[in-house]
Amino acid sequence: MDGMDGMKIERGLLGAEFKAPAAESPAGLGPLRAALLDWYDQSGRELPWRAEPSPYRAVVSEFMLQQTQIATVLPYFDSFLKRFPDFESLASASEADVVAAWSGLGYYRRARLLRRAAEAVWRDHGGGLPADAEALRALPGFGPYTAAAVGSIALGLPLAAVDGNIRRVMSRLFMIAGAGESARVEAAARAALDPGRPGDWNQALMDLGAMVCRPRDPDCAACPVVAFCAAKRANRVGEFPAARPAPATVRVRETAVAVLRGGALLLLLRAASGSFAGMWELPRSDNRSNPLLAAPGPTETLESLTGMRVASFEKVGSARSVFTHHRIETELHRGRARAGAKRLAPSHEAAKCFTPAEIAELPIGRAQRRLVAMLGEF
Ligand code: SF4
Repeated sequence: MDGMDGMKIERGLLGAEFKAPAAESPAGLGPLRAALLDWYDQSGRELPWRAEPSPYRAVVSEFMLQQTQIATVLPYFDSFLKRFPDFESLASASEADVVAAWSGLGYYRRARLLRRAAEAVWRDHGGGLPADAEALRALPGFGPYTAAAVGSIALGLPLAAVDGNIRRVMSRLFMIAGAGESARVEAAARAALDPGRPGDWNQALMDLGAMVCRPRDPDCAACPVVAFCAAKRANRVGEFPAARPAPATVRVRETAVAVLRGGALLLLLRAASGSFAGMWELPRSDNRSNPLLAAPGPTETLESLTGMRVASFEKVGSARSVFTHHRIETELHRGRARAGAKRLAPSHEAAKCFTPAEIAELPIGRAQRRLVAMLGEF
């Protein structure tokens, strides 16, 4: 496939011969930068973390936006900021309180890492973000993308942030696909970065990818950089970026048990590492280890996790949920117990019975909360 290749000279961009961005002179990219930044100044998205920019707001927004759409983040951002308005309040909060405030946003590991990052900023950097890329990348939860996004937006560091949107725009603008695509896109992003306005440049590319240069159906007629786009010029936009095979959908059967003692429901706390760490949930098990088998029944599920037995279970109903590429069908069963957990599997670190009012305040994932709601009054 055609494409930009290291330092090779290409045809297309800027009219005549175009050097790949790795070799491009800043002056050669000037018109492209000016066109995109003019568009961003007039048409960029109005977002709460942009309205009153601060390093803390940039960090919180970037953590929330990891693997999550802006529309999903918006209802959570303001309430999280009210609860934890700055690095100090977040650093001194308990992990359980931070995870509870994150409840419903998913991917809870981010909440724990965000709190640890605030702690590191407060403890090691005097309450302010360190102003160099390496120190940013050393903060908990700061991968190369988050360090570049926060560093450029909050501190004006000349760092190219390459998320899915920017990857797609770069691939099309410079016709990058095939072998070494990822490294070549990153080299192009570094070369194209506007050193005078790196944060705005990164955000302009993000907005262009989200609003105009969409994955399907890009609106090239409305694109502020159409005059510079190699894929458009070659009439080959549909070929960039190269399609990646989606992971196959995995169907999972799960059993969840609701054990009631008096007016309280037994929940287990997931251990501090792994999926759903720090979250409360119903005892549950599934057939992931052998998809050919049914999920373990309610008696086996409860006993293997807690050592408890109950006299009988009744089926409450079924619910469907999605987690990454897993399609999960959960059967919920209800039973009553007199005694509590005898022991705990290594996947969990606590077991406790909670009233409905207490459950409302706990960090619990969305799918689990739906299951609890299926129980009605108890
Ligand atoms: Fe994307 Fe089309 Fe603009 Fe090229 S011209 S950057 S393909 S929207």
